[in-house]
Amino acid sequence: MEKIETKLINCPICGSKDFEVVYEKLFKVPIGNEFYFWNTEQVICKDCGMVYTNPQPTKTTLSLYYKNVYNLFGRASTGSRRSQLEFLIMNIPESINTIFEIGPFDGTFLNLAKKEGFKVFGVEPSVEGVNRAKKQYNINLDNDFFDDKYVESFVEEKQEKFDVTCFFHVLEHIQNPLNFLELVRKITKTGGYIFIEVPDAKKPNAENIADFFSIEHIMHYTENSLENIAYVLGLDIIAVEKPQDINVIRMILKNSSKEANGEILFNDFEKNKKIVKDYIQKRSKFLEIIKEKLAEVKTVIIYGAGMHTSQMIGEGLLENINIEAIVDSDVRKWRNNFFNYTISSPEILKNCKFPVLISSYDSQEEISNFISKNYPNVKQIKLYDKVISYNKGTKESVC
Ligand SMILES: [Zn+2]
Repeated sequence: MEKIETKLINCPICGSKDFEVVYEKLFKVPIGNEFYFWNTEQVICKDCGMVYTNPQPTKTTLSLYYKNVYNLFGRASTGSRRSQLEFLIMNIPESINTIFEIGPFDGTFLNLAKKEGFKVFGVEPSVEGVNRAKKQYNINLDNDFFDDKYVESFVEEKQEKFDVTCFFHVLEHIQNPLNFLELVRKITKTGGYIFIEVPDAKKPNAENIADFFSIEHIMHYTENSLENIAYVLGLDIIAVEKPQDINVIRMILKNSSKEANGEILFNDFEKNKKIVKDYIQKRSKFLEIIKEKLAEVKTVIIYGAGMHTSQMIGEGLLENINIEAIVDSDVRKWRNNFFNYTISSPEILKNCKFPVLISSYDSQEEISNFISKNYPNVKQIKLYDKVISYNKGTKESVC
């Protein structure tokens, strides 16, 4: 067993060294055939209230982790992309012409923007995303990471900057958000716009086995912490949206030519401490309900070889259950090792006499429909009665 390499940092917004640990948890991360232990501590800055993971994983750990465990830039449905675009169009002048997206994956958002007449560009680290964008939408993306090196060569080679730079569900993965936004400014026209979407840490969903404050995100933003960032950097806030059905904050900033203020506006230390404490309490009650639900279960096949199952194992929810096999829809995972199981194709559900435990929050209903359609005789165990899904909005479970 290996330990995840970490290092202590100062507050990523105000630079303060003063913080309080509010949530500690040990994660067991399977990487290849090894297990890594990551004892995470979520802290709150005493001087501005920023909630973040501290110590942070080192750069080496992060790249190892993203290569093996997690697909950094998620795929969102056309629905959420459409509402992002509507929000943007509503809040920028008609003269706006070019949009650049950081981490667009397959380019769904950019394709919608292109149809509205914008010229679109983007940089995407995954080859799969770049290929799909080309094939599906005929959009050419740069295959690269958005970092100092990329921006340096952009500034050297390109004459024109973009009217709008956007990134959705990226900033919560970034270790130095101020530096990242400074890079964004370098490719955005003065007077142009920066459009951000992040999960809202003011409303963490406690009723999901996958922990909101998990190892996937290393920064946890609220509207006020984003406002602090804007103020520190001297960016103007043009519009904020918090959609009712999904737990995110959207913010449009103007890349004004003002000097950076360097100071923060809010200190939400007490407020955010209460949010995290309430979350921990609610989560522990929720996990008790799940334990009760699983109390009678003896042997199962698990559907889902990802973070959700890792966390189920980590929380001890599967301790008294005999796991017959683990299956996953993703072809690329088949035959890989996962917690000492070899991941199988769902095809083994044919002639299966054990119930299937659906181990996913966002995709629970999708997986359930797939099983009902293809393996109608297989008994299903669903963990959630209600799912608030970023991809599809709120869904009630029918079982
Ligand atoms: Zn701070």
